[in-house]
Amino acid sequence: MLSNGRLCGSSGGKPVRRERREHRNRSAKNAENRETGPQKTQKHRTSLSAYDFHSNPQRGRVCSLSFYVRLVTDVSIQDFFHPAAAVDGPALATRARQRLAASLTRFAPAPTGRLHIGHVVNAVFVWGLTRAIGGRVLLRIEDHDRQRCRPEFEEALLDDLDWLGFEPDVFPTAAFRRGLCDGRQSDRDAVYRQTLEPLIAASLVYACDCTRRQMDSAAYSGRCRARGLPLADGVGWRVRMDAGLERFDDVRLGPQSQTPADQCGDVLIRDRVGNWTYQWSAATDDTLQSISVVIRGEDLLASTGRQIALARLLGRSAPATFLHHPLVVKSPTQKVSKSDGDTGIGDLRAAGWTAERVIGHAAWLAGLQPIDTFLEPSELPRLFSR
Ligand SMILES: [Zn+2]
Repeated sequence: MLSNGRLCGSSGGKPVRRERREHRNRSAKNAENRETGPQKTQKHRTSLSAYDFHSNPQRGRVCSLSFYVRLVTDVSIQDFFHPAAAVDGPALATRARQRLAASLTRFAPAPTGRLHIGHVVNAVFVWGLTRAIGGRVLLRIEDHDRQRCRPEFEEALLDDLDWLGFEPDVFPTAAFRRGLCDGRQSDRDAVYRQTLEPLIAASLVYACDCTRRQMDSAAYSGRCRARGLPLADGVGWRVRMDAGLERFDDVRLGPQSQTPADQCGDVLIRDRVGNWTYQWSAATDDTLQSISVVIRGEDLLASTGRQIALARLLGRSAPATFLHHPLVVKSPTQKVSKSDGDTGIGDLRAAGWTAERVIGHAAWLAGLQPIDTFLEPSELPRLFSR
């Protein structure tokens, strides 16, 4: 739990307004410092190492990218997490631009918990890169797992996105609040059934009643392939994966090759309690919604080959372009998860963090900027431009 992750001494009341006022005060103070040279203030334990201010005419106030260097005074998530190795954002944008004339990407959280700092890192890549190359962002709520997802988490997620200032071009948050929405996977059961019909007709789908205990390796053995079990509730549904190599060129990581049939065997697309799996719902949505670039964390890199294979079965002639970004890590072996309550955006808000502070911090954790500073969503494309 964050005991005190706030900035600028704001505690309760109206932290955003107070923080901005103090931001202005501090800007004036440090403008003085520029005349006399940097001085370490008593209030902050770390020195302010840079003073190159610039004006932002759009906001009509002085802002600084380099001023808020390590301003967090007490215990904060900085004490727990490590920034990723430096990421060359402009180089990523150049490579993405070469491949994508008019790009559409997606931000696709699952409402199984509150939005956390790892989601914001993903959002920084999604909105920053997409805006830098003139593309659009679609919001998708991946609530295909009806047992783990909860409406209150979706509501909190939409609130957090609005608060952060990330605005989707397709399916804005208001579209979800109105009710049924094609961006919400639980509203697309009929779509996932429909896209499966041609595969069933081609005998590429079969039922599987194997328990976890019967699956002794990470890759499914194909035990039920020829058993002829009916496709019904109470059993899993799988799609046959042909042996073969899937090659793709990750925007950040370069050429990759994977063998889905060896890695996972026949892909589970619907589980025994009737949930469409991530693999099927994401492949269907990315195909039908014409998502041209998929930006997601490195933890999903290994499943890209099967996503490409499923998209091909769905009739996609050319796969999406993939970009896998670094994950926020607690340590070299531990990534941030939803169970880490102290990384929740709600906790940071309660502790007095502003949206600009959270986004700037996420961009630093992502390796996209060398210093930990304030950033607004509209400033993110700069991280991907020379
Ligand atoms: Zn089976």
